[in-house]
Amino acid sequence: MSGELRRVVIVGAGIAGLKVAEGLRRESFTGDVIMIGDESYAPYDRPSLSKDVLTGKAQAEDIFIRPLERFSQLGVELMLGQRAQAADLKGRILLTDASEIPFDGLVIATGSSARRLSGADFDQGTLSLRTLDDALQLRAALCSARHVTIVGAGFIGSEVAAAASGLGCEVTLVEMDAFPLGRVVRPEVGASLGRIHDAHGIDFRPSTRLAALRQGRARLSDGSEFSTDVVVAGVGASPNTEWLKESGLTIRDGIVCDASLNAGPPGIFAVGDVVNWPNSLFGERMRVEHWTNASAQGAVVAHNLLHQASEHFARPNYVWSDQYGIRIQLVGLTTGPDFEVVSGSLSSQTFLVWHRTNNRLVGACAVGCPEMGLKSADLIASRTPWPDAVAALE
Ligand code: FAD
Repeated sequence: MSGELRRVVIVGAGIAGLKVAEGLRRESFTGDVIMIGDESYAPYDRPSLSKDVLTGKAQAEDIFIRPLERFSQLGVELMLGQRAQAADLKGRILLTDASEIPFDGLVIATGSSARRLSGADFDQGTLSLRTLDDALQLRAALCSARHVTIVGAGFIGSEVAAAASGLGCEVTLVEMDAFPLGRVVRPEVGASLGRIHDAHGIDFRPSTRLAALRQGRARLSDGSEFSTDVVVAGVGASPNTEWLKESGLTIRDGIVCDASLNAGPPGIFAVGDVVNWPNSLFGERMRVEHWTNASAQGAVVAHNLLHQASEHFARPNYVWSDQYGIRIQLVGLTTGPDFEVVSGSLSSQTFLVWHRTNNRLVGACAVGCPEMGLKSADLIASRTPWPDAVAALE
C-alpha cells in the first residue's frame, strides 16, 4: 500500500470479518472500518446452527456473537443485506449492489456456500444448511417430518442426522464414500464413525448415491426406494470468490494468498473459509473451513494490514463436531498412512488416533475424549517430536 491507511473495508460479516474488525481496533486503528455482509444478520455463531438451533436448544437471538450496540461502540459501520459485486483493486473501489465504496485496505472474508446436489433425477427441491435462515427453515421441516434423507456424511450431514434423530425422525444417511468424513480421516477411523451412526439408529448407507427424488420417493444407486418427507444436501461447500473473478487476484480453490494471508497487491488480504494459503507449520497449502481457523486468522490479518507486516499464519487446522453427545475433534494432517491408536479403541466410541510424519506428531483424531483432543492440538502446534508427544500423553 503506498498511501496512508484511512479506511478498511471488510467484505463478509462472519466470524473472520468480525475478528479483523476487532483486531484493528485492538491495535488502535482510528480510521474507518466498514463491514459489508449480504445476510441480514450481524455476525452469528454458525456452528450452533447444526447443533443448538436445529435441536431447539437455542433460538436465533441466542447465537449472535456480539450485541448490535458493540459495533457502534467499536466504531465499525455494519452494512448488512448488501452484496459486494466486484472490486477495482487499482482504483481501490468496492462495488456493491447498493453503492461504490472507496477503500485503502480490503479484507475478503466472504466464507463459503453450501454446494447444491446435482446429477440426480429430481422433481422436488432439497434443503441445505449454511445460514441462519437455512437452519430456521430446516428446523421447521424436521419438526413436522417422519422420515428424513440426508445426502452426504461429512460434518454437516452427520450433525444434521444426529439432530434429526434426536427430534424423533427416522433418518437415512446416504454417503458415496465407504464411510463418514471420507476426505479427512483414515478408512479405519471412518469405519468407526460409521458404527456410531449405526448405534444411534441411523440407516447409514455407505458407497451409495441418491439417484432420483420424485413425488416424495427417493431412489438410491443400490436400487432401494423409500418415501421421505425431507431431503437435506450435505455435500460440501465452495469458497465465495465469484464476485472477484475480474479482480486480477489469483483464484484457485479460494483466494490464493501468501503465508501472511496477503492476496498479492499491498493492503489486500483474505481470511477464513475463503483463503488458500501456505501453512508453514506443515509446509502445505491449505483452505480450511473451520471456525477456530477463521477466528484466529482475523487478528493476524488486522496486524499485518495495519503495520504492513508479514507475520505468518502457521497454526494447526482444528475442527470439532458434536454428534449424539459425542465430541469428535480433528487437528492437523489426519489422512496419512503413518498413524497409531494411542488411547482407547476404534471398536469403541472413545479413542485417540495420532498421525506422524518424520517422527513428528502432525495430526490427531479424538473421539469422545475432548481434553485429549485439545492437548493434541497444543502438541501439534508446538511441532512436538513423536516420542515427546507420547511421553506427554502418559
Ligand atoms: P462465513 O461464516 O461463511 O461468513 C462469510 C459471510 O460473508 C457470510 O455471511 C456470507 O453470506 C457473506 N458473503 C459472501 N459473499 C458475499 C458478498 N459478495 N458480499 C457480502 N457478503 C458476502 N466449524 C468448526 O470448526 N466446528 C464446527 O462445529 C462447525 N460447525 C458448523 C456448522 C454449520 C452448520 C456450518 C455451516 C459450518 C460449521 N463450521 C464449523 C464451519 C464454520 O462455521 C466456518 O468455518 C466459519 O463460519 C467460517 O467463517 P468465515 O467468516 O470465513 O465465513
